[in-house]
Amino acid sequence: MKHPKVIVFTSPSGAGKTTIVRHLLSYYEKLAFSISATTRKQREGEINGVHYFFLSEAEFLHRLKENEFLEWEEVYEGIYYGTLRTEIDRLHKLGKIVVLDIDVKGALNIKKDYGKNALCVFVKPPSFEILIERLKNRGTEDDEELQKRIERMEFELKHEYEFDAVIVNDVLSNALTEAEKVVEAFINHPD
Ligand code: 5GP
Repeated sequence: MKHPKVIVFTSPSGAGKTTIVRHLLSYYEKLAFSISATTRKQREGEINGVHYFFLSEAEFLHRLKENEFLEWEEVYEGIYYGTLRTEIDRLHKLGKIVVLDIDVKGALNIKKDYGKNALCVFVKPPSFEILIERLKNRGTEDDEELQKRIERMEFELKHEYEFDAVIVNDVLSNALTEAEKVVEAFINHPD
């Protein structure tokens, strides 16, 4: 069966992907965000069912056993993230092109499954040092979590060449224009 189109955004933490994704979602009515499930701690300001479905590890693993995830990853040691099939189906039924914000491995797995019906975009910071600085300034992680994220970034940055498009988030307005261009070409391209 042919998969309906999906757009996948990936980037190391703090590269500004969320800002780009939010912009696109408000700009194109046809797009809708896939809310992932996770076992990580809920951050201040995050709402269950809006930013993520926050699940206990037991609940996540149960759903995994029931084959409820389209893809999932243990993005950080002991912390699981996954895309629920029900979420993707719900949005497709509304006629939307689904936008996912997932890690490198998840993105490449979706690419394998969806082929040209997936647009995989890698958002890159201007430099690794700037990325670490941004992440520290965000102040949402303690030292241990920060270290995990830095190690993860090094891994993720090695995979940019496997993506359909790479956007460097140096000047935000340029990154947004670039994102619009890639997404528009994909949306308007016949299935
Ligand atoms: P954060 O904890 O900062 O919200 O997300 C950490 C990482 O997990 C990010 O790279 C994010 O893209 C990724 N992530 C979020 N949801 C999913 C998901 O459903 N599947 C996968 N594979 N990764 C996800």
